Amino acid sequence: MPELPEVETIKEDLHELVVGSIIEGVEVLDPSLVEQPALVEEFVRRLGGVQITGARRRAKHLIVELDSGDALVFQLKIGGQLLLVPPVEEPRTATMLVLHLDGRRRLFLRDQTGFTRARLLGPEELEARLSSLGPEPFGEGFTPAYLRERLGSRRAQIKPLILDQKVLSGVGNIYADEILYDARLHPRRKANTITGPEWEVLHAAIRENLAAGVEHRGTTVRLYRDVLDRPGEHQNYLRVFEKHGQPCPRCEGEVVREKVGGRPSHFCPGCQREEDGPGGGVALESLW
Ligand SMILES: [Zn+2]
Repeated sequence: MPELPEVETIKEDLHELVVGSIIEGVEVLDPSLVEQPALVEEFVRRLGGVQITGARRRAKHLIVELDSGDALVFQLKIGGQLLLVPPVEEPRTATMLVLHLDGRRRLFLRDQTGFTRARLLGPEELEARLSSLGPEPFGEGFTPAYLRERLGSRRAQIKPLILDQKVLSGVGNIYADEILYDARLHPRRKANTITGPEWEVLHAAIRENLAAGVEHRGTTVRLYRDVLDRPGEHQNYLRVFEKHGQPCPRCEGEVVREKVGGRPSHFCPGCQREEDGPGGGVALESLW
C-alpha cells in the first residue's frame, strides 16, 4: 500500500501535470470506490465542470483541491494507482474511475485489488476526516521528545505503534521494517523499554528512511506506479523488507520474517535488540 513517499510522489506529479485542469466528465466504473457522498450520482454531479486547483498530501491521504471548495480525497490501497496514461493491463474492471480532463486528457484510478476508496468532502468534512491523524514526520511537532512522551510508557510492541496513524502519519509496513532496522530495534520491543538515546535514533531513522523514499520516488515492490506509470527506485535500497533468508548487510546474520502485530515483519535478530521478553535481555547481555 502506498505510504508517505509514494503518496508524496503522486502528489508532486499531480502538481506538475494535472493542477489547473478542468474536469469535463466523470465515469465511475466501480461504485464501491465512492465512500462519500452516499449517492454516486451526487459524487459525479459535484465533480463535473470544476477546476483542479491544488494537490496535497496528509498522512497517506491524497487530497485533490477543487475550485468548488470540495476536496477529492483518495486512500490508495494495496493496488491503488492514479494514472494519466491509459492502463494497458487488463482486466478493464480494475479501472474504478475515469476523470475526463480538458485537452482530451484522462486521469484513471485503477486498483486490481479493488480496495481503494474516494471521498468528495466539503471543508468541514475534510477537517473532521483528518483531525485524528498524528503529526507529519517532517513537521515541527514531530520530535524525539514527542515520541518518548507519546509512547514511552506504553507496554505495546514498537512496530504496531509506529504504524498507528494516530501516533505518526505516513509510515506503513515497508518503511516500518527499514526504520526499525536502522534504529536497531526489534519489532517486538516493548515501547516502555526504549531508552532516551534510542528514541533519538528512532526519530532520525523515521525521517531518513521516508526522505530517502521520497528522493527515490517511492518503493515498487509490486504494484506501485507514479502518475506516468513508472515504478519507483527505493526498492533497490531496502535492507530487510522481503530479504528474509538473506544476510544482514550490517552483521551478516540471517534476516528473518515473522508476524508482528498481525503484519509480516522482516528484521535481523542478530542486531535488532528485543531485550524485554523473559530472559531475552539476559541472553543478549551475556552475548555482549
Ligand atoms: Zn544484523
